[in-house]
Amino acid sequence: MSHAKLSIGIAGAGLLGRLIAWQLLRKGHRVMLFDRGPEHGTQAAAWTAAGMVAPLSEAVVSDRFIYDMGRYALRQWPQWVKQLPAHRRPLWQFNGSLVVAHPQDQSELTQFYRDLYHVTGDTQGYQWLTRPALHSLEPDLNDQFQHGLLLENEGHLDNRTLFTALGNALRELGGHCVFDCEVELESGLIHTPSGPRRFDQVIDCRGMGAKSGFPELRGVRGEILQVQTRDLTLNRPIRLMHPRYQLYVVPKPDHHFVIGATQIESEDRSPMSLQSSLELSSALYTLAPAF
Ligand SMILES: Cc1cc2nc3c(=O)[nH]c(=O)nc-3n(C[C@H](O)[C@H](O)[C@H](O)COP(=O)(O)OP(=O)(O)OC[C@H]3O[C@@H](n4cnc5c(N)ncnc54)[C@H](O)[C@@H]3O)c2cc1C
Repeated sequence: MSHAKLSIGIAGAGLLGRLIAWQLLRKGHRVMLFDRGPEHGTQAAAWTAAGMVAPLSEAVVSDRFIYDMGRYALRQWPQWVKQLPAHRRPLWQFNGSLVVAHPQDQSELTQFYRDLYHVTGDTQGYQWLTRPALHSLEPDLNDQFQHGLLLENEGHLDNRTLFTALGNALRELGGHCVFDCEVELESGLIHTPSGPRRFDQVIDCRGMGAKSGFPELRGVRGEILQVQTRDLTLNRPIRLMHPRYQLYVVPKPDHHFVIGATQIESEDRSPMSLQSSLELSSALYTLAPAF
């Protein structure tokens, strides 16, 4: 049985909008994608994000449903990455991630382990590491760390390369992308500054941009640092447990590291505050003095 080919309008070219547009184009549908930001996607969360696919770490701060979706994503991402042209494939790494705490904050790590067990109901996919095992996996970490928790079933990907690769793939498949174009939605219609466009299906991927129709949406401000240094190597994302804030460091290509993130209940998009910058950078220094 052949499926009808539809004309589909997508509002928002963030990660979700691009991924959906790409998969629909691959199935032969006609897709038009609109975004109020520029083509590079610098307005989208995925441009800033750390790129971890981390169902176990997320489970601790959410619930079983989010955990199951994360596990699904973990199976999907390697397939999606393979479908992109070889010369544009973003780096996908499946080395797990590591959770550590300074000796005085050991109880934070133990609590993390308990919370993890509470949500997952088993100990599959994560294990305690002794000090020698920890430092042989990550020799450049501060040698004060006595234990670590290795979350084996976690991966991460180079989100900026992915973003650009998806943009190119959309164009090559005949997708029509309109940037710098603020839109409003109505059933079957996308209202653009140059007039309404009708589609068989309209998909809303505007994230917080859809708030006027969904007042219950809440924004969370995530501030990150980006550091480039050849003085150390990390082989996987590292999370530092701390009573006041939790820090992660994610290695990226060309000796870049993404360090984040604050989680502040706010829709403010102004630059990072001095306080956040100091907190992240001093915690970072305790993780690995080479920073
Ligand atoms: C600092 C930080 C770190 C993160 N780290 C991770 C991580 O490690 N792992 C993970 O899984 N997730 C992470 N996330 C979350 C992840 O980035 C987001 O969940 C995801 O990128 C959301 O994608 P989206 O397409 O739904 O929304 P968005 O990225 O918000 O995209 C919405 C798009 O819609 C456009 N838009 C909005 N309104 C309109 C309008 N009226 N007209 C036209 N266009 C409009 C915007 O310009 C934007 O491009 C992180 C987020 C942040 C901020």
